[in-house]
Amino acid sequence: MRAAVIVPAAGSGRRLGGVRKAYLELAGEPLLVWALRPFLAHPAIEWAVVALPAEDAAEPPSWLVLLDPRVRVVAGGAERTDSVRAALAAVPPECDVVLVHDAARPLVTGDVVERVLAAVSAGTSAIAAVPVEDTVKEVEPDGGIARTLERGRLWRAQTPQAFPRALLAEAHRSALADGVVATDDAALVERLGARVIAVQGSPENFKVTGPLDLPLAEAILRRRDG
Ligand code: C5P
Repeated sequence: MRAAVIVPAAGSGRRLGGVRKAYLELAGEPLLVWALRPFLAHPAIEWAVVALPAEDAAEPPSWLVLLDPRVRVVAGGAERTDSVRAALAAVPPECDVVLVHDAARPLVTGDVVERVLAAVSAGTSAIAAVPVEDTVKEVEPDGGIARTLERGRLWRAQTPQAFPRALLAEAHRSALADGVVATDDAALVERLGARVIAVQGSPENFKVTGPLDLPLAEAILRRRDG
């Protein structure tokens, strides 16, 4: 099995005050480097394609270019879906499976990478996910609760998400043709009617979103070290 990892890192980081989230440092290294490492450490990964904001893709940071010879950089797009589509176009046709992982999830571990790879090598698309702990409500714009969802069946989707390359390419072609934008890639594959399974992610594999998330990530890293 020949595999590629795609890392969309072209977000504007609005919720962090407009800084480039993927470049923020966590324990001395950019989030993007943390997010890439467990994939680059896996022997099946032959290509790593990173989508950066267009102006940065023209002149990528040297720490990224020098990180690993498998890394290629492309210009991302307006939405995450556009960035993944651009990166996918740079994955060579001899690649069998593609893993997609957000730069904003720096605490992904080799175990989680291994679990999605194991599923996709058996032919099934797979995403890392964790069961929901809170009760989840569907709420109307006026604050009224429309309904309470059945918690036992609810999982929070994370990345990495792994797919046969041709299936993911078809899902993105179809989404583009139909004007569909989604917050993850599994949703685009699900819309084709293809089976996607959830495998155990990790609560530590959270998405760095707000200002409190960096100190939290640092505390988790310190505990891993100790
Ligand atoms: O916005 P959100 O937190 O869902 O972003 C998830 C990932 O998608 C981040 O790593 C971000 O950099 C990336 N992204 C992107 N292109 C965009 C928007 C988000 O590559 N236009």
